[in-house]
Amino acid sequence: MAKRKRQGIIAVTGASRGLGASSALELARRGFTVACLTRAGKGIEEVPVPKRLAPRIIAERCDVTDERSVARALAAAAQRGGGLAGVLNNAGYHIRGPSAELATEDFEAVQRTNVTGVFVVAREAYPLLLANGGGMIVNMGSFFDRLGVPQNLAYAASKAAVGAITRCLAVEWAAQGITVINVAPGYIETNLNREFLSRPAVREYLLPRIPVGRLGTPREVARLVAVLFEEKLHYMTGETIYMDGAQTIAH
Ligand code: NAD
Repeated sequence: MAKRKRQGIIAVTGASRGLGASSALELARRGFTVACLTRAGKGIEEVPVPKRLAPRIIAERCDVTDERSVARALAAAAQRGGGLAGVLNNAGYHIRGPSAELATEDFEAVQRTNVTGVFVVAREAYPLLLANGGGMIVNMGSFFDRLGVPQNLAYAASKAAVGAITRCLAVEWAAQGITVINVAPGYIETNLNREFLSRPAVREYLLPRIPVGRLGTPREVARLVAVLFEEKLHYMTGETIYMDGAQTIAH
């Protein structure tokens, strides 16, 4: 059963599929109204939205690399949902390949979505959150932010920047009642990596290195995200929370 209706709307970028779609559904299950900000403007596309949750899920067209589109989508979402209570900065873009051959434009394309996008969404959300008395920004980082990963320079650098943005905004906006948290998942099977993670050699290499013994699931990340919005623990702000089955701390 979906829980009681909550005040204000949570905007989720890149909610058409993957971790964004799972998080949007989990938030709706827990009683939040969720604005799915996606490039197609069609809301959650990967899975059917259960009928009972449909009234709590709205769709707005938004490309996080286009700041006018971000401003318009957030303002529209806030109006439709009785104010903006929070944002999940989830949209992300990943490329891999040898660093010696990485084109500048490809490097910049990753930063444009993963770094500039996160900053612009937070900046445009700020006045709307203030108007709502504060709120919560959850950024979707990655455990690659603290690893040296061959062929992943652009992505790892972008996620390290997300951690830095999280800390800076947390400090700057703490007095305004805005909490900023960076969720940094490990290997979670989604469209972003399904082909890569299905390769037998990759699984043979990876699974023994994850103490929990398996990949993570989108629902696990979604539950963590939802708890953060539910609990609103303002004293825990600026932190990066790793959820990687203990992979990066294993000795
Ligand atoms: P995904 O490719 O399934 O989803 C990414 C989403 O972002 C898609 O809906 C895509 O359309 C959207 N998107 C991309 N560019 C956009 C733009 N310019 N404007 C609006 N939306 C845009 O991948 P995912 O695994 O669900 O990734 C979601 C987030 O989680 C990303 O930030 C990713 O870096 C992060 N992450 C994923 C994993 C993992 O293992 N899957 C691990 C750590 C972090």
